[in-house]
Amino acid sequence: MAQAHTVLDFHSYSSGLLSSDETRLITSSVTQYGAPLLLLDCDVVRRQYHALNDALPSVTLHYALKPLPHEAVVRTLLAEGACFDLATSGEVDLVKQIGVPAERTIHTHPIKRDSDIRDALEYGCTVFVVDNLNELEKFKPYKDRVELLVRLSFRNKEAFADLSKKFGCSAEDALEIIETANRWQIRIKGLSFHVGSQTLSPQKYVDAIEACKALMNKVVDCGLPALSMLDIGGGFPVSYNRQVMPIKLFCVPINAALAGLPETVQVIAEPGRFIVAEAMVSVASIMGQAKREGQIWYYLDDGIYGSFSGLMFDDAQYPLTAIRLSDHWRTSALQSSVLTGPTCDSIDVVADNIMLPALSNGDLIVGKMMGAYTSATATDFNFFKRAHTVVLNDVALDSPRLIV
Ligand SMILES: *Cc1c(COP(=O)(O)O)cnc(C)c1O
Repeated sequence: MAQAHTVLDFHSYSSGLLSSDETRLITSSVTQYGAPLLLLDCDVVRRQYHALNDALPSVTLHYALKPLPHEAVVRTLLAEGACFDLATSGEVDLVKQIGVPAERTIHTHPIKRDSDIRDALEYGCTVFVVDNLNELEKFKPYKDRVELLVRLSFRNKEAFADLSKKFGCSAEDALEIIETANRWQIRIKGLSFHVGSQTLSPQKYVDAIEACKALMNKVVDCGLPALSMLDIGGGFPVSYNRQVMPIKLFCVPINAALAGLPETVQVIAEPGRFIVAEAMVSVASIMGQAKREGQIWYYLDDGIYGSFSGLMFDDAQYPLTAIRLSDHWRTSALQSSVLTGPTCDSIDVVADNIMLPALSNGDLIVGKMMGAYTSATATDFNFFKRAHTVVLNDVALDSPRLIV
């Protein structure tokens, strides 16, 4: 388990991690709805979408639903003109229900059941991803209705999640897939890759784009139909405890590499984390406390099996802060403390050996950057209910709303 080495900011009433407006919103939300909560701000989703759009002006963005498959996020992005990247029939159902036109979607899971393909086709999504001949064969019955992307693998040990370990093929294998598809009269539209989630260096994208460019040339040299799409995947990084490169700067070398592609190649991307990570704040309250071996343990009503599941699955280090609801907090001396989740499992620890002032039961622990791979991977272990999500600045509504 990744330990949170966060230096907690206990001056949040005045400056630091939380503005006074945020603090007021958090405390009033807890008064109204109870804890634990996740506050989802659609304005941040909008802002992040446009920031990436501005940084990649020639690229069509397909939001990957996986990190936060929430209806308010889909509705917000739909209104902003975004496209969507789907991976499962559940995600197909969600976008269908919200009224996303199927032409604005692609299905990018490299390994599918026949029923997954049929569900997507029935909705009207016609672009799919393959990375092997076994998968290609599944499209024989649908060859007149589909266009495929071949996913390439570029390993990336530095990313939070090296998505090229489990998916993607080599350039040689891709060429064999493209040749075979041509024989089977299945249309190959282009190439795709995912350099890995939370990729800190744009060079990974540049190398992958160059490799795809070379393969696209080879396809033409072999007398096969020219490819017309490149999908540069997701992976764009956000600042958790460490500052990452601003997105505009991050995308400069990527744009330069894309400029070398033939004009006939349409470029798309599948950002997930970048769009939603900053859009959600978690709020847990302290259920109880105990002194154990010189440290004070605070038991929260949310933990590793809930909203903080990213500590386990995603390696993310969320900036944490506290809101003391009782008085006299500024004078409290700091003491070595443990923040732990509610379940009866000892791995359910959110932060160990951190310096906190004395907190009372009912005080709040706030996590920032909690939008990506958090509630999406939460469980109901021990029957502790997942945090409710309060949606702010939703297009359809003018006031906060609780979605259970
Ligand atoms: C998870 C995933 C994404 C989103 O990746 P981020 O790192 O969150 O941007 C995009 N495409 C595919 C195929 C994925 O599996």
